[in-house]
Amino acid sequence: MVIVMKPQATRADIESIERLLKGLNLGVHISTGSERTIIGIIGDKRVLADTPLELMPGVDRLVPIVEPFKLAGRTFKPENTVVRIRDHEIGGRQLTIIAGPCAVESRSQILDTARFLKSKGIHFLRGGAYKPRTSPYSFQGLEEDGLKLLAEAREETGMLVVSEIVSARSIELAERYVDVIQIGARNMQNFQLLQEVGRTRLPVILKRGLSATIEEWLNAAEYIMNEGNYNIILCERGIRTFETYTRNTLDLSSIPAIKELSHLPIIADPSHGTGKWRLVTPMSRAAIAAGADGLIIEIHPDPKKALSDGPQSLNFDTFDSLLQEIRRMADLLGREI
Ligand code: PEP
Ligand code: MN
Repeated sequence: MVIVMKPQATRADIESIERLLKGLNLGVHISTGSERTIIGIIGDKRVLADTPLELMPGVDRLVPIVEPFKLAGRTFKPENTVVRIRDHEIGGRQLTIIAGPCAVESRSQILDTARFLKSKGIHFLRGGAYKPRTSPYSFQGLEEDGLKLLAEAREETGMLVVSEIVSARSIELAERYVDVIQIGARNMQNFQLLQEVGRTRLPVILKRGLSATIEEWLNAAEYIMNEGNYNIILCERGIRTFETYTRNTLDLSSIPAIKELSHLPIIADPSHGTGKWRLVTPMSRAAIAAGADGLIIEIHPDPKKALSDGPQSLNFDTFDSLLQEIRRMADLLGREI
């Protein structure tokens, strides 16, 4: 439930409601809009049964949240969430470009990539250390050694590091070595992992499940937020359809749909969304045009030799052209990069 305050409600009105709710052990989220304030209530509302909130000074009306995703929805928090990571913001005017190889393979591979990206003004480096591969015989990632190499790249370049974890056992390591945790498509409904990640304060990129509806995806975000971690960035990475020419079908309509339903930032992953490097740049343009707050792109110094996802990886030259196109899109849309 949220309390919608009257436009003329005073600071004292808002503070006295906040005190009352906190006194009943309820969580409070205050959204200060340009016209009016909305107070979101978190917790078991039954303790409010004998409290006529609607009669309190400054209150206009009480609005129940009908969506199953309460904290992730716009009713609870009408203004956009901006996730702050060091001096960067995801979900504001600036487009966030995250790039790097599918998997960390070696020191030279990740450091060369990081140095190249840094020279192009990219602030976020991705690289998988735990790879949830379809086959148990495929390269599974360098695990902790991979995280250490990412941390080395962070140390050298000052970039922020994004890496996937597939089990709650890796959370402590992730807290040591990375700046943003990725929850991959295959784990989007691993509810225990979501809850554990929710107990940290690390920003989380939550990818859409391979066959998850938008509502299921927002409910997955809700699992994380319900534990107190609001630093979530959603990522559209394509869903399974009957089409096999592309690896997945990048559902770009989810971007404006999420923007309507939720205050959380959303980025797009055209690499996994298409599975083909030639389609990555056009779909990146389209994702930005649809309102995405950024992109996550796979890039490899020599995609033909990549141990995973080579066919969808850009090389340094093709990444450079992508960047030029994205800069033009950003200009057109009044966003910065
Ligand atoms: C990845 O980012 O390399 C990855 C495995 O992504 P997804 O979970 O979207 O398949
Ligand atoms: Mn990959």
